This record gives sequence, structure tokens and C-alpha cells, in this order.
Amino acid sequence: MFNVKAYSAVSATSPLASAIIPRREPTERDVQIEILYCGICHSDLHSVRNEWSQVMPTVYPIVPGHEIVGRVTQVGSAVTKFKAGDLAGVGCLVDSDHTCPNCQDDMEQFCPNQTFTFNGVDKHLGGVTYGGYSESIVVDEHFVLHIPENLKLAGVAPLLCAGITTYSPMRHWGDIKGKKVGVAGLGGLGHMGVKFARAFGAHVVVITTSSNKKEDALRLGADEVIVSSHADEMQQHAGSFDFILDTIAAEHDINAYLNLLGREGNITLVGAPEKPLEVSAFALLFGRRSLSGSLIGGLKETQEMLDFCGTHNITADVEIIPIQKVNEAYERLLKSDVKYRFSIDMASLKTN
Ligand code: NAP
Ligand code: ZN
Repeated sequence: MFNVKAYSAVSATSPLASAIIPRREPTERDVQIEILYCGICHSDLHSVRNEWSQVMPTVYPIVPGHEIVGRVTQVGSAVTKFKAGDLAGVGCLVDSDHTCPNCQDDMEQFCPNQTFTFNGVDKHLGGVTYGGYSESIVVDEHFVLHIPENLKLAGVAPLLCAGITTYSPMRHWGDIKGKKVGVAGLGGLGHMGVKFARAFGAHVVVITTSSNKKEDALRLGADEVIVSSHADEMQQHAGSFDFILDTIAAEHDINAYLNLLGREGNITLVGAPEKPLEVSAFALLFGRRSLSGSLIGGLKETQEMLDFCGTHNITADVEIIPIQKVNEAYERLLKSDVKYRFSIDMASLKTN
């Protein structure tokens, strides 16, 4: 065991602050990574503030962060995919049972015994796992991803969660080329959703609460923008969408978005608001519409997504911040004031 610097919160109402946490010595299957950048996902904030207490109660202290890129410093003797000096990424998962049907189908995210990167059961050291707001991390090589060398690292970190979470449902939905695809919420996930939908050849429409994001939405690849508070714009697009990816982090009227779907259209929820959404049966019955959900993606698909981003030169638009600004960044997230992902420069942790 060795100690590293990190940022942690000790309760749902405490700010994140400097802390020291333990990491295990790499076992033969492990990769040790010096973390260079870590994205700030809204899930970090939900978890730090224990907003998902009903489903995944937070164990304190919590060290969030599951959008990790860095450089390999050491590997165990049985590791074959990585060597010291390689770029490496870690997303939301650090372990699973490898034997259940989900793992065998490369969907480790649905494994009943999966271990999340933070606030998961730490099988090695006991207690809970600690995430990427830290100097380094030690992870089983199966859960470590290769990073394309041509991409800017600060913008790569968010691909490990925001990227795969938006890529996977669009791939699952089938060929969206030429389809009318909506992205609800233009934050970290939403802006990646726009980039992927555009790359897959869809007609992309951003549905936003922020009229000041219109120009950015078009620059990011949207063909059209709807401001959801403008009833006339919502009415004009009613019944016309094939697919909508809902990335909204807060309570919202899902029926207003369901009414935008055409016959057999689907809304896939990736946003995970604290409180349940109220669904009108009629919004689903008319047009045989469906509402479903999607959780990150498996390791194989995450690597596929990263390779796709390498080929198509796709990264997140990031605002790079030092770790000392993390609490301010959380407040800005709550105001939908992020363009479009905060990426923490982990070198700042050294100066703490
Ligand atoms: P984010 O950067 O804060 O973006 C969320 C966006 O939602 C905001 O920028 C805003 O966009 C919109 N929004 C906020 N409040 C709203 C409201 N009251 N009504 C309508 N729209 C509202 O968050 P994120 O990191 O992208 O995460 C989004 C959600 O996905 C979070 O709940 C997160 O926990 C969840 N998540 C799920 C998975 C998964 O595997 N399913 C993975 C990662 C994250 P506009 O300004 O454009 O309206
Ligand atoms: Zn996330």
C-alpha cells in the first residue's frame, strides 16, 4: 500500500478538500497510472451530495472522478496490453465478475458484481474505491483503455464517461444516418451526443433551456436548436423525432419531450436526476413511443468509441481548471454554466 494526494468530501454538505488516500501495490494483473487529467461529471456532484441515496448511497469520505487519463508508471508481471510510458484511460468501472452473462457479452456495466471507480466496494483494500481526483490509480488491466496518441489529453478525459454514455445508446438504437435525432441538455454529455450524432450522419437538433447556447450548439454540429421554454418551437417540432437522447441532470417534464417523438420514436434517458420523473401514459400510448435508459458502456465498446474519436478527431470541449477550483466548478455545473466539460489538470494537485 502507498499513499497519494487526492481531493475528497467528508459529508454531503462539505466542500471537496485536500486529503491523503491509500492505493494498493500493483498485483500481477494491475496497471498503475499517473493521472494527468480528470473530467468533472455531473455524477460526481450527485454522488458527493448523496443525491442518489435511494439507489447508491454515498460512503464518506468520497473521492470522485471517473474520467481519467494518464500515463502508465508500472505494470504487473501478467499485464500484456500496457507498458510503462503508455497513455491510458479509466472510466466508470474498475472491476466486474467476468463470468456473468453481461460480462460474457462485453457489457460489464450491467454485471451485478461490478465495481465502480469511486464509491464501489474495494475488494483489495476494503472500504470503498477512490476515484480520479487523485495523483494516481491502480486498476486491473481489463478496465484500462488505450488512448489515441493524436488527441489532446484534457479533452480525451471526458470521453471515458460522457463519451461512452452518449456513443453507446446511439449505436444501440441502430443506424441513425438521416434520422431526426434530438439531444436534450447541452452540458458535458449533451455536447458529446451532438458530436457523435453528427458524425453518424443524423439530422441533429439540440433541445436546451439556455437560449444563449444556440450558437455553440450549431458550432458543435447541430442542424437546429429548440429552446424548450419556447412553446411555439416545441409545438413546431411535435411528433417529428425518431430518437432523443435525454441528458438532463435535473427534474424536468419528460412528457414535453415525449411529445416531440414521431411514431415508434424513442427517448433514451442517460441523465439521472435525483427525483423520479412523472410519465404520462398517453405520451407513450399515442404513436407507440418508448422510453428507455442506458448506462455508460462496456469496455470493448469504450475502446471502440475511443478509436472512433481518434479516427474522427473528436474530443470534448473543455475548460481546464486546477483542482483548487473544483468546488466553484460544481456550483457552475448547477447553473448549467459549463462549456462544455471541466477537465482538471492534475499537476495542480502537486502544488497543494
Ligand atoms: P451537465 O454538464 O450538468 O449537463 C446537464 C445539462 O442539463 C445542463 O447543461 C442543461 O443543459 C440541462 N439542464 C439542467 N437543468 C435542467 C432542467 N431543470 N431542465 C432541463 N434541462 C436542464 O451534466 P452531465 O455531466 O452532462 O450529466 C448529465 C446527467 O447524466 C447527470 O444526471 C449525470 O449524473 C448523468 N450521467 C449518466 C450516465 C449514465 O451512464 N447514464 C453517465 C454519466 C452521467 P441546457 O443548458 O442545454 O438546458
Ligand atoms: Zn460520469
